[in-house]
Amino acid sequence: MGEGPPSRYMEVCGTHTVAIARSGLKKLLPPTVSLISGPGCPVCVTDQQDIDTAIALAREKGVLLATFGDMVRVPGTNGSLAQAKAEGADVRILYSPFEVLRLTDENPGSEVVFLSVGFETTAPLIAAVVKEAARLEYRNLSFLILHKLLPPVMEALLGEPPALAGSGPSLPVTQGSPILDGFLMPGHVCAILGVEPFRFLGECYHLPGVVAGFDPDDILLALWMLQRQRCQGRAEMEIAYRRVVRAEGNRTAQRLLEEAFQPVEARWRGIGNIPCSGLALRQAYSAYDARGRFSLQVEPAPDTPGCACGEVLRGLLSPPECPLFGRACTPQSPVGPCMVSSEGSCAASYRYERIIP
Ligand code: SF4
Repeated sequence: MGEGPPSRYMEVCGTHTVAIARSGLKKLLPPTVSLISGPGCPVCVTDQQDIDTAIALAREKGVLLATFGDMVRVPGTNGSLAQAKAEGADVRILYSPFEVLRLTDENPGSEVVFLSVGFETTAPLIAAVVKEAARLEYRNLSFLILHKLLPPVMEALLGEPPALAGSGPSLPVTQGSPILDGFLMPGHVCAILGVEPFRFLGECYHLPGVVAGFDPDDILLALWMLQRQRCQGRAEMEIAYRRVVRAEGNRTAQRLLEEAFQPVEARWRGIGNIPCSGLALRQAYSAYDARGRFSLQVEPAPDTPGCACGEVLRGLLSPPECPLFGRACTPQSPVGPCMVSSEGSCAASYRYERIIP
């Protein structure tokens, strides 16, 4: 692997971020190969205004807000869901999205809102829950859908393709874009989508991608395949995780996504608004959209002062380059979401890569 050209590869999956940090892989790689983390943690990429909206909803009288664990600790402009809960809001943590149906049955006097974040991996499950809620005609249940889609954010991250920008043959040139030589592709997302939606990486940016599994040897194999493509001058989408991922993805999950959701513009922390990068419930399920059921006006919120999560999520800074890393910001006292989520790159770096003096 060390004989290939100098290469910077980005992973866009929080599970990869943690696997790489926990296994110490970076230290084992040749000096010519470096890894950087991108916007792969769904909790981390959730915009501050959306966090504030969730907190405002939780504080509404009669609302029971249910969500996944990491979301509860993410700091909003004025506190977090955990703080709202401490002040009396009814906030519950779920481990499976289907639990929300039981929770709704058990709380007929509450307006249950499920705050749902995630990429294409979790969205089909949520689609199944929404469809079941509609089939059973639940009346006191709605969903605050903050799901995101990976292909549009990768495209936005890379900026204008080099040919259009009139630059060299292989690297993105848009200001604020990371300099990359390829992607370690997310195994879970590709298990759902397949590789077709990512072929633009090779066709428009001449960047290779290899779908990787989550064991250290899976990741090493994918890195070796990326280097092989670079050495051979190829920029293709390959699969190193064949025991799970098929080129066409999971058609059943894709159908569920298509039936329940439509792509909409979404806000990404540190990146901004990206067309068609989020999901909203289709008209047939609009009665279950919490945004329609509650009229909440939440002002756009600036990111937390001093927090470099935006730069970290764009791959422009590594976590230790944030001045707050390990000082004002730790997993016990997080300033930004990248230190809250178990899949956040700051939390992973703090836990596994930090050099303790
Ligand atoms: S160390 Fe903390 S403040 Fe800095 S980027 Fe990471 S989460 Fe944000």
